[in-house]
Amino acid sequence: MLRQLNIPLSSLLLALCLLVPAGSAANPQSNYTESQLPVFELHSGFWINLHHTLYYEARRRKTLLSRDASASKSAAPGAKSVLAGKGLTDTEQRAWDDAVAFYILNYADKDLLFTTELVQLKDQLGDFEDCDELSGRKRKFCDAGLPANLTQVLEAAAPVYRSRLWLEHDQANRRWILQVAPLVREQGVGLSERLADIYQTRWPHEKIRVDVVAYANWAGAYTTVDPLRVTISSLDPRNEGPQALEVLFHEGSHGIAEPVQAAIIRECRQRDKPIPRDLWHALVFYTTGEVIRTVLTSASPNRGDKRTGASGNGYNTYAFREGLYQRGWKNYLELLQRFWQPYLDGKATFDDAIARMVSSL
Ligand SMILES: [Zn+2]
Repeated sequence: MLRQLNIPLSSLLLALCLLVPAGSAANPQSNYTESQLPVFELHSGFWINLHHTLYYEARRRKTLLSRDASASKSAAPGAKSVLAGKGLTDTEQRAWDDAVAFYILNYADKDLLFTTELVQLKDQLGDFEDCDELSGRKRKFCDAGLPANLTQVLEAAAPVYRSRLWLEHDQANRRWILQVAPLVREQGVGLSERLADIYQTRWPHEKIRVDVVAYANWAGAYTTVDPLRVTISSLDPRNEGPQALEVLFHEGSHGIAEPVQAAIIRECRQRDKPIPRDLWHALVFYTTGEVIRTVLTSASPNRGDKRTGASGNGYNTYAFREGLYQRGWKNYLELLQRFWQPYLDGKATFDDAIARMVSSL
């Protein structure tokens, strides 16, 4: 944990950590916390990564099993495990398969975002990232209070993950953090203030914890509230490049966009209209995209970062790039451009913009 260190030393340590060759056993469970940035505290933690990897593997294996069962006997063999080709011993393979089987049975059908049990488990595993066990056998404060069978499963899978995959995942997480860090450092405070102003609220006073993981959920990132925490995949191509900044602030906005949803509901009730399910989410996508685009464009157009492509010119916002508007939100996009954009430009009030959108639904 680098929480108490000053910037130069933590940067030095990070540089050293990144120089550690793959397979080094010097400190096989070295978590990483980037706590020197404004607005966000970015973590690469062992247990939460193991948990999401097992969940990912369980869901994939389950899908393959059901596909095989419904297909003919000559069905193609399933896609490889995340540990394929890593030279697992039979014992390691068994421990890993048992853990995946446990996840198939208990979690694969549950949603990471909408199942309280999984949200609490994720938060708990994040809190215990500095422990190399979860049972408290060696150190009492490392008793995570998880169900005994789950503790057993995770502790049995941990050595396999630690020695075969963690270094790779941890390095991908750190690369993701390093890539987005300069933009957060330069623009983070301004962006958070601008977004809070737009939503007529305050950005959370505490830094938002972000767990960077190899695998997140189907969307590549998700946010849970109370406590407000963001989980982002470092391997998902949708989160790469300058979009990383947008994904961070989109997810963070989930914690403050409540006034928008409240205003939409209020306007719908007044007009006796059904509440559009995703309008507030389309609005958050649109708003974050436009705010980020403005910042990347105005920051310094000539100072484009070759590594991240972080020049605002031609910045393609997430929702456009991933085709969210084309896939069912086309109507929303028209409303947002017509009524919400003037509010972003300072030419309309928040209440008027929402009222006009709702009355045009
Ligand atoms: Zn979202």
